[in-house]
Amino acid sequence: MSAEVINGRELSTALKEEMKVEVEKLKEFGLTPHLTVVLVGDNPASKSYVKGKEKAAAETGISSSLIELPASTTESALLQLIQELNDDTTVHGILVQLPLPDQIREEKVIEAIHPDKDVDGFHPINIGKMMTGEDTFLPCTPYGIITMLKSKNIKIEGKHAVVIGRSNIVGKPVGQLLLNENATVTYCHSRTKNLQELAANADILIAAIGKAHAITAEYIKDGAVVIDVGINRLENGSLTGDVDFESAKEKASYITPVPRGVGPMTITMLLKNTIKAAKGLSKIEG
Ligand code: NDP
Repeated sequence: MSAEVINGRELSTALKEEMKVEVEKLKEFGLTPHLTVVLVGDNPASKSYVKGKEKAAAETGISSSLIELPASTTESALLQLIQELNDDTTVHGILVQLPLPDQIREEKVIEAIHPDKDVDGFHPINIGKMMTGEDTFLPCTPYGIITMLKSKNIKIEGKHAVVIGRSNIVGKPVGQLLLNENATVTYCHSRTKNLQELAANADILIAAIGKAHAITAEYIKDGAVVIDVGINRLENGSLTGDVDFESAKEKASYITPVPRGVGPMTITMLLKNTIKAAKGLSKIEG
């Protein structure tokens, strides 16, 4: 058996087409969703992520602006800027690209963004709402993963989902969203004793570790759905996932590739959140 590949790029393109139509309609009401991205320092990976976000926004008609600050920016200067963006009624979504330089505490910055403009879904209030199942901004990567599963009508309810990785931006929230969808969830991490045994028990396996090809066929149950979140750069410069795609696809029923998997979905869900923010702040229903 060879797994069906869930192509995140194709799904993103389709979702962006739908969003484009929605944004056109909002513009007829005089509302242009606007995303402001703040980039501190000159980390090349961050620069490239930010470029991707601006390009995707433009494709859907969402306007965006980029504020670039030097690596020496102080925490108080960044917090002051966020306050100004919170108060600016033309800005609907605020995204501060992580990681930040050492002198700035990330949690202070995340907490400073108004929860109604928190399109990354990282604010503790929005995380709390996600935990209690309230409508809120969902963190983009987990939101993208759930959207990919739903796009293939993959049943989540009653399934055993094993999440490898427990970061605040991927592992923990994706497990919570799967739980909200009535999966039974097991979290694994670097201290987990019997990782392979647990993983091989999963109906839905999420790999969010950051180690190239760590998850080989032995970790996968026949017919499992395998979602590869990892983005790892190999010595030859190419990108690869946490899953050994070639061996895994012979056992899985569905699998996501890297690239063209979860990555494009993450940016797409940011755009969805930006539209949601614009509508919420403008009190437009639906
Ligand atoms: P973190 O480094 O924050 O977290 C990695 C997690 O994996 C930790 O919980 C760690 O455990 C666990 N881990 C590390 N090694 C092992 C191991 N050998 N066995 C079991 N668990 C292990 O990473 P992120 O969550 O931010 O990202 C994970 C991957 O996903 C990275 O490759 C990243 O680039 C990618 N990513 C992709 C995105 C996308 O859009 N596709 C978006 C965000 C991230 P412990 O907590 O014990 O240290």
